[in-house]
Amino acid sequence: MYCKNCGNMMDSQAVVCVKCGVQAGTGDRFCSNCGQEMTPEQMVCIHCGAAKQPRYNRTYAAPVRESKSRLAAGLLGILVGVFGVHNFYLGFTGKAIAQLLLTVLTCGIGGVASAIWGLVEGILILTKQINYDAQGIPLSEM
Ligand SMILES: [Zn+2]
Ligand SMILES: [Zn+2]
Repeated sequence: MYCKNCGNMMDSQAVVCVKCGVQAGTGDRFCSNCGQEMTPEQMVCIHCGAAKQPRYNRTYAAPVRESKSRLAAGLLGILVGVFGVHNFYLGFTGKAIAQLLLTVLTCGIGGVASAIWGLVEGILILTKQINYDAQGIPLSEM
């Protein structure tokens, strides 16, 4: 393995190039397979034919999974759970629409039921009985 930044030969277990100090695999001026110089535009080494790895392959690896706030979700359930806001927030859209329609379609009469429903869910969230959002991402304790 060669440093892609300076072309220095390096140990395949090395994390950092001892010559230039960059992280292994960083840089696009040298072939990591044979150590020959190559231009950043080259996708394949003209000396050994090794394909250059995509420069930002790690950046796109995992989608952003942002955790929702337990406190925010709980308070939304208690305060405006009558409109299903906390479930919209957590991504439980079907349940949220059910609570919203229950309130709206009954001109507020069913709102009593969905308010209690939201209140109970808000308390369940705050007391850590509900710990995940619709995507299975744990709620943050903020
Ligand atoms: Zn180097
Ligand atoms: Zn090469």
